[in-house]
Amino acid sequence: MAFFDDVKRFGKNLTDKGKDVIEITKLNSQINAEKDKIKDFYVKIGEEVYKAYSAGEETAYNEYCAEIKNIEDTINELTAKVLELKNATKCPNCGAEVAKDTSFCSTCGTKLN
Ligand SMILES: [Zn+2]
Repeated sequence: MAFFDDVKRFGKNLTDKGKDVIEITKLNSQINAEKDKIKDFYVKIGEEVYKAYSAGEETAYNEYCAEIKNIEDTINELTAKVLELKNATKCPNCGAEVAKDTSFCSTCGTKLN
């Protein structure tokens, strides 16, 4: 009967191993969710620093903020090119994309040139 006991024990070990794998997967998933929360706070910290920089305050990260400003300028240039190709413009009041030949913004009703 020792043989069958060994088989039983082996089978039980496999079941436990399977449970461990599931538990490890669950725990790793929780760890990643917690790491994502930290990343969200990093983003918030970064946004606050950039807001301060944009308001003219001296920050410890002015170099990085200047890089972000350059990237924003590039995005604005590229967006302007896209609008030009679409023969559209942005509403000066709400920022909605509107066709150049319309008289009023379809989103907020502002009179356009
Ligand atoms: Zn508008």
